[in-house]
Amino acid sequence: MHAALGSGRCHYHPERSGIGICVECRSVICAECTTQFEGINRCATCLKAKLAKASTLLERKDWTVHGVTLGLLGVGSLYAGVLMLAKLFG
Ligand SMILES: [Zn+2]
Ligand SMILES: [Zn+2]
Repeated sequence: MHAALGSGRCHYHPERSGIGICVECRSVICAECTTQFEGINRCATCLKAKLAKASTLLERKDWTVHGVTLGLLGVGSLYAGVLMLAKLFG
């Protein structure tokens, strides 16, 4: 859909010749704009967006770990309560 496609010019630098196509936005990109992440060509804009998404996922993972820790603490106090009851009645 981009007019730049086939023209061989970088989407971000019209004065430079493109050497690849971003897999995300399909823009022709020059050597400077090409970023190789996980062996895949992306323009700097799309790589930044991907990294931002990745860090959001990492934050969510932290939340999950936090939730698991809280859950374990809850189970632990429940267990302590059961032990106390067992002592009272045993
Ligand atoms: Zn892109
Ligand atoms: Zn460029």
